[in-house]
Amino acid sequence: MIRTAMDYIDDIRRLVEADKNYIWHPFTQMQDWLDEEPVIITEGRGCFVRDAYGKWYIDGVSSLWVNIHGHRRKEIDDAIREQLDKIAHSTLLGLGNVPSITLAEKLIGLTDASFSGMTPRLSKVFYSDNGSTAVEVALKMAFQYWIHKGQEKKRSFVSLKNGYHGDTVGAMSVGNVDIFHNVFEPLLFTSFKAPSPYCYRCESKVSCPECSFACLKEMDKILEDHSDEIAAVILEPIVQAAGGMIVWPYGYLKRVRDLCSRHNVLLIADEVATGFGRTGKMFACEHEGVVPDVMCLSKGITNGYMPLAVTLATDEIYCAFLGEFKDLKTFFHGHSYTGNPLACSAAIASLGIFAADETIIKLAAKSAIIENELAEIGKLRMVGNVRSKGLVAAVELVRDRATKEPFPWEDRMGWKVAYEARKDGVLIRPLGNVIVVMPPLSIDVGDLYHLMEVIKKSIISVTGKL
Ligand code: PLP
Repeated sequence: MIRTAMDYIDDIRRLVEADKNYIWHPFTQMQDWLDEEPVIITEGRGCFVRDAYGKWYIDGVSSLWVNIHGHRRKEIDDAIREQLDKIAHSTLLGLGNVPSITLAEKLIGLTDASFSGMTPRLSKVFYSDNGSTAVEVALKMAFQYWIHKGQEKKRSFVSLKNGYHGDTVGAMSVGNVDIFHNVFEPLLFTSFKAPSPYCYRCESKVSCPECSFACLKEMDKILEDHSDEIAAVILEPIVQAAGGMIVWPYGYLKRVRDLCSRHNVLLIADEVATGFGRTGKMFACEHEGVVPDVMCLSKGITNGYMPLAVTLATDEIYCAFLGEFKDLKTFFHGHSYTGNPLACSAAIASLGIFAADETIIKLAAKSAIIENELAEIGKLRMVGNVRSKGLVAAVELVRDRATKEPFPWEDRMGWKVAYEARKDGVLIRPLGNVIVVMPPLSIDVGDLYHLMEVIKKSIISVTGKL
């Protein structure tokens, strides 16, 4: 039977109806979703995704910051297929599996290369399934580590304002994005909150570097006064992602590392968003020659193919958990899909592409394009601040440039720009008033220029009507 265009449109209508009938979307006001004509993605190719109507879009936020080398990479498709012919899943609880071993060895090799000759050394890999669980693991590991060291009082954490570490209860407890976390406040454990180095909206109202890192004073004081209660400082190095793609001034991270060492507090680097080249280096900590005691990775690890996360730790931490079975020093944590062989195979193949494509080497030129384009966007009437690091770019919209007055969040200015960009074949997802641009690292130069051009045009179109 020959299918007509109307048949295809009916299929799409049925899909949309079923989506609206059955799916509760994350971070989405479903009342709005029900009124919208949603984009349903059916396939991807390189840095593009296609919707059910056949329209192609640039994947401007890498399918939520996970895609690195583009969609449908043959190397990864093949690796998953090859592993499927062996086994899809077996547990790491009491058993090993080949891809998880190979990947762990490669990841330690990678961190050794990135942090060559520096201390401490990350030497052990603990698997989980997503960024939030990688963070939960890190928090529990740090907490239990100090118990084994005979310092049970060290059970609190220091986190940063505007920090985001995921949506599980532990991860939210060290998160500080009011709009996401306020409602859950009664459920969360308390942690110390230090200011973030958000220079555009500096709490001390001084400019960097003349400020001599005034924002660090509070962190220093917290550690000075409470180091006997604090297990770890947790932070997103160099770029605080969900808090608004806040790019830190050079020198902040290194100073926090020094404070942690001085006060005998662990440093947990949540590189879930920044890891795997996103900021221009394999790991964001490399920008300042900092090695954390614990590092969380997820998102880009499988090139966005499969859910996988790791929490890397030093030998010092790992060895504190060794002991007789009866000592109960075991790390009692694990998930059903921990170390899933298909996901690990995807990650191994994805790591291989970095060398083959010279991904990191090619980033410098692309970052420069973003910086140049942002400089133009930064001149627009309702753009308060532009910032970028590697292939993370942010444009902060404001109602008034002089006073930096933000648009009320209910105005959904970011979303208005995002919807406008869709008309020109670009998919982005804002964070409040912040337009986020985070394409796959593999994006070619022509597509990158086009992406930035559409962002600029969309901002002009939306703010021009105000
Ligand atoms: N940590 C950071 C820095 C993140 O940006 C995110 C997610 O955006 C998470 C943790 C949580 O990751 P997931 O959504 O995979 O649980």
